[in-house]
Amino acid sequence: MAWSTSDAIGSASRLWDSAARGTLGLLGGGGCGVCRVRAPSGLCGPCAATLEPPTGELSIPGVAHAWALLNYAHARDLVLALKAGDRRLVDAVAAAMAAELRSADPITDVLCPATIITWAPTSAARARERGGDQAEVLARALATHTGLRCRRLLRRAAGSPPQHGRSAAQRRNGPAFRCVGQPGPSVLVVDDVMTTGGTIAAAARALHARTPDCVVGAMAMAQSGWS
Ligand SMILES: [Zn+2]
Repeated sequence: MAWSTSDAIGSASRLWDSAARGTLGLLGGGGCGVCRVRAPSGLCGPCAATLEPPTGELSIPGVAHAWALLNYAHARDLVLALKAGDRRLVDAVAAAMAAELRSADPITDVLCPATIITWAPTSAARARERGGDQAEVLARALATHTGLRCRRLLRRAAGSPPQHGRSAAQRRNGPAFRCVGQPGPSVLVVDDVMTTGGTIAAAARALHARTPDCVVGAMAMAQSGWS
């Protein structure tokens, strides 16, 4: 059977529509971002076939709707490759996120032409360690694929520790953010991996502190530890 990356991803995540597949097909060149075998696009068929959509509904305080593209349990290698800075994978994932948003229902609660895309910023130490903020990279790529504006609206409060390495209870509280821009009527907060939702909930608290009636949505590449 001739695997194509786009077909494999399509079957792995029923939410990824033809727009995402088309984008994947255009990426061309290089090897698989996960296993490095020769692949026509950013992800080889066998790696793409291991991906699965998340299970269950994401319910986060202060967030009207939260989406995640993939189940982290099946997407660990992809997430790591993305964090390592594989630009083709960033574009592929952003295109798939955009496709999922376009097919979302109800779409008007969270997404309208005035929606601003922003991101939940990682700690400065972690951004230095990784050579950048993965959430910001994804947010900017998602803005390109949706045509929505992307702005920095959140900063970490001084001394807020990174989520990585904290207990589940600590993670549920999330890091402390402050709003540094004008949220407008609706904001979509992008993160790479949602675990307890604590980071997104903290982002929503900061946005609502500035604009109480702002409708907040969230979009992550992968969802971990939810059922
Ligand atoms: Zn592969």
